[in-house]
Amino acid sequence: PIVTRFAPSPTGFLHIGGARTALFNWLYARARGGKFVLRIEDTDRARSTPEATQAILDGLTWLGLDWDGDAISQFERADRHAEVAHTMLAQGTAYKCFASQDEIAAFRDAAKAEGRSTLYLSPWRDVPEAEHPDAPYVVRLKAPRDGETRVNDAVQGTVVVQNAQLDDMILLRSDGTPTYMLAVVVDDHDMGVTHVIRGDDHLNNASRQEQIYAAMGWSVPVWAHIPLIHGADGKKLSKRHGALGIEDYAAMGYPAAALRNYLARLGWSHGDDEIFTDAQALEWFDLDGIGKAPARLDLKKLEHTSGQHIAMMTDDEAMAAVDAYRSLEPVEEFSATQRQTLQRAMYCLKPSARTIPQLIEKAEFALTSRPITPDAKAAKALDAVSRGILIELTPHLQTASWSRDALEEAFGIITDAHGIGFGKLAGPLRAVLAGRSVTPSVYDMMLVLGRDETLARINDASA
Ligand code: GLU
Repeated sequence: PIVTRFAPSPTGFLHIGGARTALFNWLYARARGGKFVLRIEDTDRARSTPEATQAILDGLTWLGLDWDGDAISQFERADRHAEVAHTMLAQGTAYKCFASQDEIAAFRDAAKAEGRSTLYLSPWRDVPEAEHPDAPYVVRLKAPRDGETRVNDAVQGTVVVQNAQLDDMILLRSDGTPTYMLAVVVDDHDMGVTHVIRGDDHLNNASRQEQIYAAMGWSVPVWAHIPLIHGADGKKLSKRHGALGIEDYAAMGYPAAALRNYLARLGWSHGDDEIFTDAQALEWFDLDGIGKAPARLDLKKLEHTSGQHIAMMTDDEAMAAVDAYRSLEPVEEFSATQRQTLQRAMYCLKPSARTIPQLIEKAEFALTSRPITPDAKAAKALDAVSRGILIELTPHLQTASWSRDALEEAFGIITDAHGIGFGKLAGPLRAVLAGRSVTPSVYDMMLVLGRDETLARINDASA
């Protein structure tokens, strides 16, 4: 069975790049009946606060990426990591090194000064146990000196490192705590991880990790190191490119489904398909489609994707997206009537909104209740003449069947009679129905509000 994992270090938020890594792992596992597990790499105790971990869980939850089982704490598995290091000692694939930090630093300084390789080869590698001092030691991997270590990567191809280039990496520090390299391998092995899909900043680590797998005789997972995300300028993504945390994208009002679509396309492609559903992403996602070049974060494209997703939503889905967005901040709940009107209005709001707040903004006419107070710009369209024209319109609205055609016909009678353009009637109507000069179409507003509410709003304004 396929097992993928997401292994973030808690930083206080779910980074957009991390979210993409998580999504790729999630898609890969979910489409294949596999498991997607979560491991929090919380060995840096200063940064790994419960809040920082919670922010990652919240980000994943918002994005709709569910994981199997409980999130695993890497820190809590330190004993198991040490156990494996001791197994390796017993098996002779690791050794105790008593060299002090000062000794190693002195070696490096001298090597640098003399222009020799600074690769530290511990003199303790082959010293028998009987000759060991009673002193602190680190545990080092007894790495092969000859030959090469190959990483077969599903994205990067085969990466070969000469073993002579690698030192005997430390597995356990002198205080008995595991190094990152050991912890990752032991955890991935114990969690049954079959596919490691992660940022290519870890590609170098993979050859190190291969050596630990080999020493333990464990089977190596499929590696897929994905290029990091870059900013629009092609440079490594950083704060100056804009929002980095997934929560910021949620707060900007992008629906989670749209962000999933957008993130899936960031570094992965399926032909020319840009806009797709989760079902399609699950069907299509494969490691073959991951590109070798770094993808660029493009907010315009995200907006476009978001707009397309909002347009594709059913009215119920759009309501749910509104609720999810509004739940991010403490806001007053919509009344039952507001909800009904909003639901009725969705058909005319969805096609042009690119974010959820835009959708809500367009719905303002439906969410506010009488009396409507026009803003300054809208009020300009309302004078004695235009009020008179609106009053002439009312008997036609009273008798019209409440359909778009009938409303257009009623409009036509008035504009013809006065020899005026559509705007001369629509402008004042926007002002009385919405209090704004920019609104959804007047016909849509009337259809959503209904006959009684429409007439009441006209009536309020002409009183
Ligand atoms: N904790 C590492 C990171 O956040 C990921 C390690 C891995 O995926 O192997 O970059």
